[in-house]
Amino acid sequence: MTLHELFGFFRTDPRFFTFGMVSAFALGCCIGSFLNVCIWRVPRGMSIISPPSHCPKCGHSITPLENIPLLSWIFLGGKCSSCKQPITIRYFLVELTSGLLFSMIFLTVIVRALPPSAILFYWIAASILLCSAFTDCELGIIPNEFTCFGIAMGLILSPLCPSYWQVSSRPTALLLCLGSILIAGGMMAGCSLLGKWIFKREALGWGDVKLVAAAAALLGLPGALFTVIAGSLLGLIGFPVLRLTVRKYRHRRSLKFAPFLAVGGMVWIFYANRLVDLVIP
Ligand SMILES: [Zn+2]
Repeated sequence: MTLHELFGFFRTDPRFFTFGMVSAFALGCCIGSFLNVCIWRVPRGMSIISPPSHCPKCGHSITPLENIPLLSWIFLGGKCSSCKQPITIRYFLVELTSGLLFSMIFLTVIVRALPPSAILFYWIAASILLCSAFTDCELGIIPNEFTCFGIAMGLILSPLCPSYWQVSSRPTALLLCLGSILIAGGMMAGCSLLGKWIFKREALGWGDVKLVAAAAALLGLPGALFTVIAGSLLGLIGFPVLRLTVRKYRHRRSLKFAPFLAVGGMVWIFYANRLVDLVIP
C-alpha cells in the first residue's frame, strides 16, 4: 500500500480518520514535550540529550511516569513531586498547542487532499515557529539551531518529496526550495540593513531574517511572504494594544516579532488554498 492509498483511507473511512486525528494529537503532545526541552536548553547553550530531565529547583530526576505529556502535569497539580515547587504552565501549554497543531495540520492535509509529504513540512514548520515564538518572548532570541534546522530540513526533504512543490523532478524541487530561501532571506536581510541605516539601531533582528528563510524552505516563497506580511500587520495592531494593556510593554520601543510571524505562518498553513483562491479565482 502506498502512502497516497493510505491517505485515501483516512479521507474515506471515518474510523481511519478518527484514528489518524487521535494519533496526530498524541504525537504532537510527545513532540511538544521534546520542544519544551529545546525551548529551555537550546538558547542557554545546553545539550538537549544530557543530563536527563530534572527539576531545575531541587534536581529531582523526572521518572518516566512523571514525563507523560499533559497528564503528568495535571496529576502532579503543576508541582514537582519531590520539592513541591511549581512547574511552569509553559510545559503544559506547549504540549497542548503542539498536539492541537499536529492534529489540525493532519486534518488540513486530509481535507485539502494535499500530497502526504505536506504533513511533514507543516509539522516541522509549526514546531520551529512555536519554539522560536517562546524563546523570542522569553529571552529575545531565536537560536540558530531552530532556524538552521528548518532550512536544512527543507533542503533535505524537498528533493525526496518533489510532489510537495508540485513538480516531478527532484532537482527542480531542490532549486525551488533553495530559490525560496535565498529570495525570502535576501529580502528580509535587505529590510534589516535598511532599517538599521534609517533608525540607527537594529530594527529587524537577524534571528527574524533566518526564521523567515526557514519558513521559505518549508512553506515556499508565497508562504514566507504571507508570513511576513501577516506577521507585520498583526504586530502593527498588536503592539499598540500590548503597550496600552500590559504594564511590561508600556515603555517598549520595539516588539518581539517571532510570535507574530508564528501566527502568520500558522494562518498560511491552515488557509493557504483559500487565500490563493481569493487572489487567483
Ligand atoms: Zn523539585
